Amino acid sequence: MNEIKCKICGSIKIIKNTTITDFSHGNIEKNLSIYIQKTDNAFFNKSVKGEIQAQICGDCGNMDLKVRNPKELWEAYLKSKN
Ligand SMILES: [Zn+2]
Repeated sequence: MNEIKCKICGSIKIIKNTTITDFSHGNIEKNLSIYIQKTDNAFFNKSVKGEIQAQICGDCGNMDLKVRNPKELWEAYLKSKN
């Protein structure tokens, strides 16, 4: 089985795939995300969004972050460097 363990304390009590939510003005929920610009053209700005997911240890509180769509972000990153 593919069990995830905490890197700090070795616990298997891992809260998986939670999103990090920010409550902005008017209590509007916004999940924190990474944005990578696809072009440097200011009139044609496209960006790729990667929603941040967190895994939290239910024993020591250690938190690991990852994005939902790393491959898509990597593609956009490569394009943005041209
Ligand atoms: Zn832990």
